[in-house]
Parts: sequence; structure tokens; C-alpha cells
Amino acid sequence: MRAIRRFTVRTLLPVALEDLDELAHNLRWSWHAPTRDLFATIDPTLWQTVQGDPAALLGALRPERLAALAADVDFVSLVRAASDDLHRYLNDPRWYQSAADPEDLPAAIAYFSPEFGITSVLPQYSGGLGILAGDHLKSASDLGVPIVGVGLLYGAGYFKQSLTRDGWQVETYPVLDPDGLPLKLVREEDGAPSIVSVELPGGRTLNARVWTAAVGRVPLLLLDSNVPENDDAARKVTDRLYGGGGEHRLQQELLLGVGGVRALRLWSRLTGALEPEVYHTNEGHAGFLGVERIRELVSSAGLTFEEAFEAVRAATVFTTHTPVPAGIDRFGRDLVARYFGGDNARVGVPVEKVLALGAEDYDGGDPTVFNMAVMGLRFGGRANGVSLLHGAVSRGMFRALWPGFDESEVPISSVTNGVHAPTWVDRRFIDLAAERFTHAEAASGAGWLRTDAITDEELWDMRHTLRSQLVRNARARLRASWRQRGASPAELGWVDDALSPEVLTIGFARRVPTYKRLTLMLRDPDRLRDLLTHPTRPIQLIIAGKSHPADEQGKRLIQQLVRFSDSSDVRGRIVFLPNYDIAMAQALYPGCDVWLNNPLRPLEASGTSGMKSSLNGGLNLSILDGWWDEWFDGENGWAIPTADGVEDSDRRDDLEAAALYDLIENQVAARFYDRDDRGLPVTWLGMIRHTLATLGPKVQATRMVADYVQQMYAPAALAGRALDGPGFTGARELAEWKAKVRSQWSHVHVDHIESGVGEVPQVGDALHVRAIVSLGLLTPQDVEVQVVHGRVSESDDLTSFGTQPLAVDESYENGRYSFGADVLLDSSGPFGYTVRIVPRHPALASIAELGLVANAH
Ligand SMILES: *Cc1c(COP(=O)(O)O)cnc(C)c1O
Repeated sequence: MRAIRRFTVRTLLPVALEDLDELAHNLRWSWHAPTRDLFATIDPTLWQTVQGDPAALLGALRPERLAALAADVDFVSLVRAASDDLHRYLNDPRWYQSAADPEDLPAAIAYFSPEFGITSVLPQYSGGLGILAGDHLKSASDLGVPIVGVGLLYGAGYFKQSLTRDGWQVETYPVLDPDGLPLKLVREEDGAPSIVSVELPGGRTLNARVWTAAVGRVPLLLLDSNVPENDDAARKVTDRLYGGGGEHRLQQELLLGVGGVRALRLWSRLTGALEPEVYHTNEGHAGFLGVERIRELVSSAGLTFEEAFEAVRAATVFTTHTPVPAGIDRFGRDLVARYFGGDNARVGVPVEKVLALGAEDYDGGDPTVFNMAVMGLRFGGRANGVSLLHGAVSRGMFRALWPGFDESEVPISSVTNGVHAPTWVDRRFIDLAAERFTHAEAASGAGWLRTDAITDEELWDMRHTLRSQLVRNARARLRASWRQRGASPAELGWVDDALSPEVLTIGFARRVPTYKRLTLMLRDPDRLRDLLTHPTRPIQLIIAGKSHPADEQGKRLIQQLVRFSDSSDVRGRIVFLPNYDIAMAQALYPGCDVWLNNPLRPLEASGTSGMKSSLNGGLNLSILDGWWDEWFDGENGWAIPTADGVEDSDRRDDLEAAALYDLIENQVAARFYDRDDRGLPVTWLGMIRHTLATLGPKVQATRMVADYVQQMYAPAALAGRALDGPGFTGARELAEWKAKVRSQWSHVHVDHIESGVGEVPQVGDALHVRAIVSLGLLTPQDVEVQVVHGRVSESDDLTSFGTQPLAVDESYENGRYSFGADVLLDSSGPFGYTVRIVPRHPALASIAELGLVANAH
């Protein structure tokens, strides 16, 4: 029988145990093992049944058990101590509070993301983007950075994956009950649920309730459209993560961006929280937040659209995450027009101006689409990619937005991703190191990275323990999967011996878009079979990953892999584990000796799973893409050589797969099985120590968040404040100045260049450059006239260059001026130069901001 209604009855905790409620609802437990231990001691069996979910555990306790616990003075004092510890974590000053110049840092930062992967208990993520957002919030909390997260609460989250007998992916969408999740509903003072509403075309309204998750010190606001105030269609807007396409997706992004800003205002009104000074959008999905902030400023401060745009842009940070065009959201322009125009137009926010923000009005663009990444870049006073390589790739990908500038000048920088160590390092490993170090070292998070106090035997023993733990975990998952695929227990005897705790274990787990090449390892099945079944130096492979439900090709790749791993000659040595999620990931990374990654370079923006592996003493075996391109140093793992530039993709795969097999056989396996007389792989252990010592500090998300604070948030806050004073004078002036520059730019050019240098120029000589320029009605203060100089190629292209401003020295009639300077020739070889004019204003974040440049011809 089916129930027609459901709800969750909350447990009433005895007074002596009240603190358990906060301990269960603050998600810090997800990265704080002592808090988890406390819950586990209540009922170890039940703790297993509820899969380590404290709120579910409390909900499942019977009143008699609670009464007994409340009468247990020892337990009550443990609860008190855990609660005190949590409050110290929440209230004591941390890194951000001890900054040298706290008044220069933003008082609050809003972080928008379509998904957040914090714990498996809150399945609101699909992959790397969400996990990164979760790690960002957790590390911000550890550092005391005053962030507030904004996202959506999906009724079904992302799908659960299982397999048919034939290895085909099956998706199910278990419905989540928010009352059973570690969330609290935001309510008005009278107790009624608060509502955020967004106007829709046709006079409809999209309403949402706001749930909050406490991520340590960081509040996360999640909007949920499944509320009685909505019509049926509106209720379904947040039904699932990346569920529909087109209009459904647009509505989700409207709720996230526009509704998200309104949720922040609500949150400040009800809690007194400071309003964010900086807005960070994690990928383009939340970009409409800029339109909403413009609307606010137009209606509350009487600014024009352009003036408000400047104020918004200065304080916005945009992070792009993908060089794969299919990863970028694009909507039909007409569709967006319906949502921001017609009967749904907002006063002071003309639809053409909104459309212009996402227009691909550049060379090679499609005039019929609205591009969310392009809008992100236009709104983002500061923008970045997620590794050095990805920053460079992004500059190439978006350079058409800044025509006339060199690719290296495209204003997209990079902040390399990181991972939250306390979430991803196995606690046995943390505990082992913590035993050996002072409390301060352990508490600072650096403790387990120093392995110098651990002997080779202990380190290898630890690796064995972690590998064995994974083998047990994988066997249980394999058995469950086969049962689910219809096998009877009698057929599954072999599963007890599948995988071995002694064999070199290679892991590969990630989403399955084509570019990640799940099946590259199958390129030469015989070769792989030989590696798996090698008589003395075998390898074993543990593989996992979900394909997007609409991606048939991805599902075929999974099927191909599952079929290979089903064949009886290899089935205990290569396994595919269904339903890759945070819980599986936490078991997988620590147990693997080697983490494999073989994307099609340069399509992996960063990748983070290999970072998590390295923190557990795993070694990376990867294509030089994303973060690995930056930090591979020859001793911390292996680089799979790429066949960059080979056009034929089959041939490229053949070449790269062959290189992979060679590496595994001749280097990875050879080294793993190379043992001294104590049975220890000494060289291998040296690589682990080197990895922990050198990569350990770099791959952590605390490093990443600190980089964001210093390179992005702090400058954005200062830029924002400069425009956001009383009356928004700064924003008004900047908008007026930009309008003037744009209107005059067609009159700006370099008319004539004179230069002088000795007959035989030598290093140390000066090149005197003088340029006569026309500026129309602009003044010399409005522009910078620059010499661009450096090395030239045979075709006279400046291959690497610097710039030097010229100083105005004379003015003539009709807006003409002379500028001049000496350029020092400081290196020998072919030298070239040119002159150009760019707009100049102290409020510009980069010289390319207006996309205007007048190059000499
Ligand atoms: C870390 C992680 C990812 C992202 O890994 P990539 O290396 O970026 O592909 C995806 N899913 C889960 C569950 C993770 O823990």
C-alpha cells in the first residue's frame, strides 16, 4: 500500500542531552571523528544501520534508551565536553581573525553554487564541482572566513546508480525528506516558514522556502520550491539536480541567482548577519544574481542600469570550471527574453540590457544563444580558472571577448583547486601521525603530513591496513551489486576472494563524460589482462563512476568496462563498483596505492580526486592535465605521456594507452614489488614521504581558500567599497567615464611613431620612442599610451613582451598629443616593439576591462 502523505516525527531529547541536537545538526561532525565516535557509542549497530548519520540515529532512538542515556552521568559529561569543543571551534578567533589588516578584508562573502557535496548524508551534488564547493565551505569554516553558501535543495538530489545483469546503468531517484536531513527551516519571528519569491512570466510566482545547513561556522542556505504556495509546475523546479534541460534548468538558475540574493536579504533581516560585500559564483549557473543586485540598486539607490552594473561587477568573483563546451550553460535568447521581458520585465532593468550580458556578440559567437559563462565573465570584476593550465586554456577559449589584446592579457587568472584534508584523509592515518606529534601540530592540520617520525615498517603497515580495509569494503559492494543484478548467493563464492590486500591496487573513479576516457585502459584488452594476471607482479583495478542519465555513450562505456570485468579470467582483479559517492570515495582513496587519471588533455580543468589520494599516501599516475600538470615533479608519481596534436583520436588513444601500459609494467609495478630484505618497497616508500611532504600542503583547500581571500575576495571588497560609498558616487563616475571612453574610442588612434637608437644597438642602450596620438575628446589622463616591446619571431610577432607607459610631453590642436619615453634594451637578440593606447582609470581591475585598445598600424 502506498502512503499518500509522509512526514518525520522528531525526537524530543531529554534536557540533559539537548546538546546532541546541535552536535547532530552542525555538519562539522562529518569531518570531526571524535563527534562521530560519540554518536557511535550510543548504539554501534544502529550507527551502522543509519550509515553514520547522527540526525537519523537520534531519530531512531526509543524514549527508554534516551532516558537511560540521560541518567548516565558519564555519557552526559561526554556530551557536554563535545558541545564545549564545538563552541570553541565556532567562536574562537581563527586565521581570518588574526589577519594583519582585518579591515581590508570583506566582512562577509556569499558563495553561490548549484551543488554542494558536504557529506553523503546530504546528497546534493553530482561530482567534482559540488565536492569542491563543499570543501570550500568546510575550509572557510576552519579558517574562520565569513562565508555564507547559497544553493538549491533538490527533492531527489542526484541519482543512485545500479547495474542490470548486462552491465547497463540504471538510475533511481530516492525522494529526500528535508525534515529527516540535518537542516533547519528558516522561519519568521511568528514561526511561519519564510518565503522567497521570484516573478515568472504570465503573472506566475515561484516561491521557495529556505533551509539552512550549518557547515561548522558557515551557514549554507538552500532554496526549496516544493511548497504549498506554488502551482504544480513551480513545485517541481527543484525536483532534481541537473534533471531537465532548457526551461526547467533556466528556472532553477533563476531561483538560485535571483532567489538566492533574496534569501541572503531574508537571512540578514532575521539573524542580523552582515550583508555580503563580495559575491562569488562557482561556475556560471548562478549568474542571474548580478541582474538581481542591479535591480536592487536601481530601485533602492536610484542608479541607472550602467551605474548599478559597475557597483555589482566590482564586488563579484567568477570561477570558470570547464574547458568543455558542453559543460557551459547556454539558453535560447528568446527563452531568456521571456523571463526578463514582456509582462515579466523588471523596472529599470531593460530586457535588451540583460540579454546583452550573455550575448555571444563576438567573432565565432552564436547570436541566438544566451551564454551563462559569458555573463559570468562580464559580471566578474575578477575571474579565474582552477589550475594554471586551465587559466591559460580559459584565456584562449574566451579571448574573443577581448579582441585586440594578446591572449596572455585576457583577464582570467587562476586559483588551483584543493581538497579538505580532514574530510578525505583516513582517520587511522591521521591518528597514527597525531600520536607522534605535539597537540599543536596535530591541531594545525599539518601533523599527519610529516612522516619523519614514522618508520618505514609503520608506514608500509599503514598502507597495508588501508588497502585491506578497501578490499573488504569493495567485496561487500561487489556482492551487493551482484545480488542486485540477480545473482544467487551460490554463484558468488568467488567474491570472498576477489581482490587481494597484497596486490598493487590502482583506483579510477570519476564521472564518465567522454573526455575522461573511462575505457582507455581497455584499448588493448590482452595487454590489460596480462597486467592483471601477471604471475609475480600483478595489479588490481577498482573502478567507479556515474554517467549523466542522458548520456547514452557514457553508459555504453560503463557497460563495456563492466562486461570486461565480468569475464571469469579477470573478475577478481578488476571490479566496477556502482554508485560512486562521497561515502565510497572516502573508502576508495585511502586504500589505493596508485590513483589513475587519463583525461584527454587539456579538458580536465583541475581534477581533485588525485589530490585526495596523495594526502593518504597514494601516488598519482596521470596525464599531465589540470593540477597534475602544475605539480608533478618527477618524484611524486608518474606522468603518462600525451600525444598532443595527434588529430586522429583513435590513434591518439592507442598511443596514450600503450604508454600507460608500459609505465604500469616497467615502472609502477616494478617499483611496488621491488622489496628489500625486510620485505619493504623502499623506493616506493620514499616517493610516499616525498608526496606527503611536498604536495601535502599545496593540495589542501585551506591553501585554496586563503588564495581566494588574498587574490580575489580582498581586492574585490576594496573595489566594491570604492564604488559603493554614500550616493554611489564612485559607481556613477565610473559608469559616466566608461560611457565617455566608449563614445570617443573611434577617434582614438596612434598617428605616428618616431624612434631612435644607436647604429648598432647594444644591451644597456636606450630606445627613445615618441608617439603622436589622437584622443578625440578624451584627455591624456583617460588613457595609457604604451610601448609594447620584447622578443620577436621571424614573422615579427612579439612572442613574449612587456609594456612601458609613455609620458605625455606636448599637446596640439584637435585632441592630438605627443607621448614619449626611453625603453632600456636589457637583453640581446631579436627585439621588436609597437605602440598602443588603452583606457586608464584607477577603478579598472585590468587594462582589458573595456575590451578597448587602439594598436598602432
Ligand atoms: C573528489 C570527488 C570527485 C571529483 O573528482 P575528479 O578528480 O575531479 O574527477 C567526484 N566525485 C566524488 C564523490 C569525489 O569525492
